[in-house]
Amino acid sequence: MRLFNSLTRQLDDITPSSDNTITFYACGPTVYDHAHIGNLRTYITEDLLRRALRVSGYSVQSVMNITDVDDKTITRSQIEHPDAGPMEALIETTRTYEAIFKADLAALGVDVAAIQFVRATEAIPQMQALIQRIYANGFAYVADGSVYFNLRTYREAGNPYGRLVNVDYSAQARIDNDEYDKAEAQDFALWKGTKDGEPFWDFSLGEHDLPGRPGWHIECSAMALDNLDEQPITVHSGGIDLKFPHHENEIAQVIAATNQDFARTFTHHNHLLVDGRKMSKSLQNFYTLEDIKAKGYNPLALRLLCLQALHANELNFTWDSLTAAQNMLGNLGAWADLVHQPEINKATADTRLGADILAYLAEDLHSPEALARLAAETAAPTAELLRQLDALLGLGLAGRPDITPEQKQLIAERQAARDAKDWPRSDQLRAELSADGLEVEDTPAGPRWRRATP
Ligand SMILES: [Zn+2]
Repeated sequence: MRLFNSLTRQLDDITPSSDNTITFYACGPTVYDHAHIGNLRTYITEDLLRRALRVSGYSVQSVMNITDVDDKTITRSQIEHPDAGPMEALIETTRTYEAIFKADLAALGVDVAAIQFVRATEAIPQMQALIQRIYANGFAYVADGSVYFNLRTYREAGNPYGRLVNVDYSAQARIDNDEYDKAEAQDFALWKGTKDGEPFWDFSLGEHDLPGRPGWHIECSAMALDNLDEQPITVHSGGIDLKFPHHENEIAQVIAATNQDFARTFTHHNHLLVDGRKMSKSLQNFYTLEDIKAKGYNPLALRLLCLQALHANELNFTWDSLTAAQNMLGNLGAWADLVHQPEINKATADTRLGADILAYLAEDLHSPEALARLAAETAAPTAELLRQLDALLGLGLAGRPDITPEQKQLIAERQAARDAKDWPRSDQLRAELSADGLEVEDTPAGPRWRRATP
């Protein structure tokens, strides 16, 4: 398997550790609201990557952080639970959105069980230990009750910064906002001193007593090192907007603490646009999975739409494109349902289909070509082939139930009415089947049913 590596700016082979394991870290959500479909696209891509690695024969050890303490989660928790204590409010709000996030992933066909989720609030000691190592090595300093990463001493020691992007090192401002995105190097907060009314944890650093909470970047470094059994890890994944400064800072923290590199490959996934524009609340083009379900779409139609674009390219979401994806999902489902109708199509699907699709995915996740190969297959699939396809693509094609004996009886009766040229009866039975969600198409080999909705 090869991925475009942002560190080397080329396609690199993904090679496992000695025991055939791929260690995989993916930056997770900040759980203060519903995830929007742009975020969800990244998690779908990462699921596809894990599937391709697994089917390639690797065991994948996959960790994702849940950011359940930061400026946004704290603000939201105070609005939602004004009468609760700061920590209680934070946990209440973040657990709610974490559950929604995981339910969204599951609905989108993401293999949630394959991911080890780690909450920031449950990894505070590991983050503090990492900060202590960075501080002991001389790459952090205390100011105003907070701890900052010292880019100057870090770079003067000959350490790399800016491998993922071209960065202007001239500015050395100090900031404590997690979400700055200016293309310049800045000392960033590893630990933020507590403010009134905010949840906090005690922290002793040297002679300093520093009640507060972790910065955002330190989370990922600490959780990856603590939970993945390898350093450097094999693959680090995230949305393209995290490339700088977040990922650059993750790398710097790990090198500053351990004097060893963090990840061998960084893979970045591009944005989802809505009607050609970046999603924003003011443009009212800010969609969640709830919005998609409310309009009657199957969540897997969004998954399919995402797979229709190359992960490294922008994807333009429109409702028309989602409708087209839903239609394609329906066609794939109808094809999968041929497994229950062997009399309709006696040709058997190409047994190389799964291998061909894997070959496309193994080359930097070329999912559009994989889907085109799949859609071109018309001969009936076997149950085993459908299982292979689900293992790769997660589109829910395997294990679809057969229709009921009563429905089969209606189809047989309709055929008998047609044979007897009893058209009113035949039409009436067609209407009954349609009310049951089944469409019947008359083929030379007999009636073929398909479900009206995917
Ligand atoms: Zn991260």
